[in-house]
Amino acid sequence: QAKRAGGNTYCFYDKKYEPPRVDRYQLANDLKKAVHRGELEVHYQPIVEVERNIIRGFEALIRWKHHRMGWISPTEFIPLAEETGLINQIGLWVIQKACHDMKRLRRLHGSPKMIAVNLSPLQLENKQLPKQIRDILRASGLAANRLELEITESAIAQNVETAIETLQELVKMGVQISIDDFGTGYSSLSYLKRLPFHNLKIDKSFIQSGKVEDEAILKAVIMIAHQLQKKVVAEGVETFDQFELLNRLHFDYFQGYLVSKPIPVDLLPQYLNQQATKITEIKML
Ligand code: C2E
Ligand code: MG
Ligand code: MG
Ligand code: MG
Repeated sequence: QAKRAGGNTYCFYDKKYEPPRVDRYQLANDLKKAVHRGELEVHYQPIVEVERNIIRGFEALIRWKHHRMGWISPTEFIPLAEETGLINQIGLWVIQKACHDMKRLRRLHGSPKMIAVNLSPLQLENKQLPKQIRDILRASGLAANRLELEITESAIAQNVETAIETLQELVKMGVQISIDDFGTGYSSLSYLKRLPFHNLKIDKSFIQSGKVEDEAILKAVIMIAHQLQKKVVAEGVETFDQFELLNRLHFDYFQGYLVSKPIPVDLLPQYLNQQATKITEIKML
């Protein structure tokens, strides 16, 4: 009897104690130091132009290699950076790194055309943002129209008027705007006419589900976007079937593991040298 109880208790404890919960306060402190420790990296995922089958640009995706815990996902530490206010500093660092990396790559290769960087809602609330971005562009030598900023619908929903003002200022500078993960948040058709933007990135769930309902929604959304002179981007394309679907529905651009995972900056020159053949393979499969 006692043995059985002990067994059960052990079992219960075992579950409760793994995995050890990370102390968020400690993690926030580590994140503060991560920039100076050089633990943050930016990786780059190719964005492909469907019709011409060429790389249009890259999306910059932040990575954190913690000195003890190893790789931590941005879906975990970006919210932490937002809670602690670190996001403004980290967000600017990503933009700066991405602009410099792309400028250097363009000097080496004459390509790619674009670099896309994700923006947190909090960055959009910062009135200094347009000026800060102008300074970064000037210092890096990258033309404003080669920078694309990705914002989610929820970023806009929080403070619509401020968001629109900031976006308008950025657009005036020549920066391009993409709406990220479209269809998952507070999707509102009125945003499509009120917001200044250039590209609509439809959330990967619509491409990946394989449901007829999702295909119907995709068709309608793409039609609306194209009527409004916007480009449409498919995210999370993993299979050739998904590629055929987006091709048939006249998406303009796509990204996903089918082409490549996000790539460390050191490997980009090598990747660009091989890409011509790689991407042609997709269509010839
Ligand atoms: P996101 O902007 O929607 O980025 C796309 C995410 O999907 C990335 O995850 C990317 O690695 C992943 N992905 C790309 N292709 C595929 C695919 O074929 N299949 C699947 N299953 N996933 C794919 P990641 O890098 O983990 O980033 C997650 C999110 O974290 C991003 O979503 C973005 O919201 C945020 N994030 C990343 N970097 C930054 C940053 O520098 N600043 C801010 N504010 N947020 C960032
Ligand atoms: Mg994004
Ligand atoms: Mg996305
Ligand atoms: Mg996302």
